[in-house]
Amino acid sequence: LINLSQVEQVKHKDEVLGAKIPYAKLTEIFDKIESESSRLKIISIVSQFFLEILQQSSIDKLVKIVYLFINRLGPDYEPDLELGLGETLLIKAISECYGRPPSKIKKDYQEVGDLGSVAQKSRSGQPTMFKPQPLDIDVVFENLTNIAKSTGKDSQSKKINIINRMLTACNIKSNEAKFLIRSLEGKLRIGLAEKTVLISLAQAFLIYESKSSKKVNPERLTQVEDIIREAFSTIPNYEVIITKAYEYGIDNLLDHCQLTPGIPLKPMLAKPTKSITEVLDRFQGEEFTCEYKYDGERAQVHLLADGTIRIYSRNSEDMSQRYPDLISILREVLNSKEAGVSMVLDCEAVAWDRTNNKILPFQVLSTRKRKDVDEKDIKVHICLFAFDLLYYNNQALITKSLNERRVIMKENLNEIEGRFQFATARNSSNLDELQQFLDQSVKDACEGLMVKMLNGKDSYYEPSKRSRNWLKLKKDYLQGVGDSLDLVVIGGYIGRGKRTGNYGGFLLASYNQDTGEYETTCKIGTGFSDEDLSTIHARLKPTEISQPKSYYVYDTNNSNAVPDVWFEPTIIFEVLTADLSLSPIYKAGHQEYGKGISLRFPRFLRIRDDKGIEDATSSTQVSEFYERQANVG
Ligand code: ATP
Repeated sequence: LINLSQVEQVKHKDEVLGAKIPYAKLTEIFDKIESESSRLKIISIVSQFFLEILQQSSIDKLVKIVYLFINRLGPDYEPDLELGLGETLLIKAISECYGRPPSKIKKDYQEVGDLGSVAQKSRSGQPTMFKPQPLDIDVVFENLTNIAKSTGKDSQSKKINIINRMLTACNIKSNEAKFLIRSLEGKLRIGLAEKTVLISLAQAFLIYESKSSKKVNPERLTQVEDIIREAFSTIPNYEVIITKAYEYGIDNLLDHCQLTPGIPLKPMLAKPTKSITEVLDRFQGEEFTCEYKYDGERAQVHLLADGTIRIYSRNSEDMSQRYPDLISILREVLNSKEAGVSMVLDCEAVAWDRTNNKILPFQVLSTRKRKDVDEKDIKVHICLFAFDLLYYNNQALITKSLNERRVIMKENLNEIEGRFQFATARNSSNLDELQQFLDQSVKDACEGLMVKMLNGKDSYYEPSKRSRNWLKLKKDYLQGVGDSLDLVVIGGYIGRGKRTGNYGGFLLASYNQDTGEYETTCKIGTGFSDEDLSTIHARLKPTEISQPKSYYVYDTNNSNAVPDVWFEPTIIFEVLTADLSLSPIYKAGHQEYGKGISLRFPRFLRIRDDKGIEDATSSTQVSEFYERQANVG
């Protein structure tokens, strides 16, 4: 899809230079970051390191290093590149490698709370008979990729073998074993989030290009950060971003990171609002449009010039296998199109009742199988509601107005009732009309309205941005803080009475995008049906861990805020709250307010499987909700 010949050239150059980068050098940086609390200093350490690699022209190594920093092995949209091995397997690997019984490793783990440190300690006590080749970035990256990709019946032992080989090669003097194990767990826990890595990359490129590190002009730095962020939200692939920035220079990066069918862009997001009057205040004097807010699953549809159709989730995962019926619908829609047409459509996939010709609630959609879907067996049908066209016929449309994008979409595609429709929309700024439209949307089984700027620059499509130019007005939440929150489940409380055998309640956390930590926000026990509780129990039980993760921020002194069991962070709950208050025991936003913010009377709505853990409501968003509420009050 992308012309990577340049990447190849750069790789070649790198091989000629042949400079291996020891893994120990990377772990030295991890150590430094772990002991540093100032974010500015962390950025300076990381960018300095990136700069050194850039200066050596080791572009492919820089790409790998960036991925190692964020604990991924490639872009989000490429499958099977996730680490996140379980405790049991890692304990087994450490035990086999160092010849210590698993019970001892477990005991150490309970004391220390970090398997990485346990491995490191076991390593130090291990005499080395021979000196294996030291680990370097390429070897570690390749091995981790092999581990992530290995599936099937022998995969356990294959993984353990690879881990053993790497652990044996770890240098005792550096902390390689510690960080290797943490990477395998899927979280480095050095207090570094992806956001910081992007900023550091921007800083490194800026210094590299200006050839002087004396003084970084803050305005220019913000500009470069924006360029890198924008490029990344259009092409979320570090290999492409870094290679193109290196080859063409930062100021030309966006010209070379154009939207490409086949590469999902990060979707534009909306800000919550609490009333129609708030919407009218925001869009005063501007033309805007309201669309039904459908309650289904976001679907970014890509049609490639060779006729391939791909469907991506909100989270950039390829859902094409899960929705074979949608692919058939799209083939029907595109039937009359001449060959070679390409496009990217932003849509919501919604469950549809074909007998009564109406939308079905999200709960029905969520009963569809997620794997091995055979079109013949599908019982819950889908209607795709298209609300935006981002690319058409070799041309990106994101810098055209929404009005223009809509015209192109409607001119070129035809609706098929109950299968493919355009989002119902109304352009009006009359309060009564809007109220009526909102009520109608709910009668038609939608969640409310999406209100969007219609003309001019403010209506351009802004990938990955939670923009003020898109507002969501959710009927059910107008009484509360204006929106539901999506929080990570990090702990559970043993169920009693009717809930015996299941968890009776859960500890939830927001994600701090600066530090990469999960900050507790509330305990929740309301809103669950018996069926919900048993489904959740079945999913969470295997993720129980004996220790809280070191990146869980909770009040250790208050037994109310300490759950009976801890979980790996794997599931997000969408929850409703009456309001938010400062709390003596919860921790969301605690750095800002001294105390944390917590949800009052939280109620469970549903599990959010379409969001990655780091897409949870951020602590900054929790603070924003809190502040808006304070202003209103
Ligand atoms: P967020 O994406 O804001 O974190 P979320 O994933 O919980 O929140 P919502 O708050 O429900 O999503 O609002 C945005 C979502 O609404 C979009 O991601 C999309 O899936 C859905 N949606 C439904 N109808 C529309 C529409 N007409 N325009 C844009 N998005 C729509």
